Amino acid sequence: MSEIEKIQSITHFIKKKAHELGFDKVGIAPAGPLDEEGSRLRQWLDRGYHATMNWMLSRVNERRDVHRYFPEAKSVVSVAMNYFHGTAKEKLKISNYAWGDDYHVVLKKRLIQLLKDIQERYPGVKGIACVDTSPVMEKVWAQRGGIGWIGKHTNLISRDYGSWLFLGELILDCELEHDSPFEEDLCGSCTACIDACPTGAVVDDYIVDANKCISYLTIEHRGELPEEMADQLHDWIYGCDICQEVCPWNIKFGRRSEEVAFSPRSDIVKKTVEEWESLTEEEYKRIFRKSAIKRAKFEGIKRNISANFLGRREI
Ligand code: SF4
Repeated sequence: MSEIEKIQSITHFIKKKAHELGFDKVGIAPAGPLDEEGSRLRQWLDRGYHATMNWMLSRVNERRDVHRYFPEAKSVVSVAMNYFHGTAKEKLKISNYAWGDDYHVVLKKRLIQLLKDIQERYPGVKGIACVDTSPVMEKVWAQRGGIGWIGKHTNLISRDYGSWLFLGELILDCELEHDSPFEEDLCGSCTACIDACPTGAVVDDYIVDANKCISYLTIEHRGELPEEMADQLHDWIYGCDICQEVCPWNIKFGRRSEEVAFSPRSDIVKKTVEEWESLTEEEYKRIFRKSAIKRAKFEGIKRNISANFLGRREI
């Protein structure tokens, strides 16, 4: 088998296996530095838009250059899984992405399986599986792999699923056939997400200030909420989907995920306001077992529930 045939064979194998494992989209890009995107990340951090997420500061160089993270990297395989299950209708809302099992675990397991399958068929291939927590600019790699473009709300949008996508990557030490990057920006003159954000967190096209973002405040922020944002959660107690719900690409192309792991748990999506108010730590542990919501911790969820009552007793 020639070198080119080997590259074609392994690329075909990876894409076929990835779809068999339940990934809805797969895109491949050559590993290399992300100079422009890295500079934009640096500017964003310099402006303090990362709020208290100081862990973002510590591994910027790895994010900018995948070889600092995985020196043997030659290709980045990006995968995406549709998680959409409808829009939150309850009085106290949880972001769609957290209605089922923790996606970090679901995607990571499958990426590791994909790597094992590759290694069984092509011994000697080395790789690393990443989901969210690795120092990797996931949306940029997905765009480079042709999966979609990064919208003005800064989420990745695909033509066929909108932005309701979980992303993950397999960084490999072998050459693969690359997909064309997604060069178009299909946001055009739309500003729906910017206009709809109730706290003005999309401060400019393609720039989100986490200090004002309900998703950041309800998930990542520890301790008391900043005074100016404490009554600004707009019924969200974990995450926020407003910018995604108003996006015309999601309205037109969002479709229900068939992935059982992401099916809404009734304990999470069907609670009344009174039930949320009386949530105990024991119940929290039970209903959020294997859920991404654990990240906010019990104290965080209780804080968010209480914050939604600030000056809004009508809830
Ligand atoms: S709402 Fe409009 S501007 Fe915002 S991401 Fe969607 S298409 Fe782009």
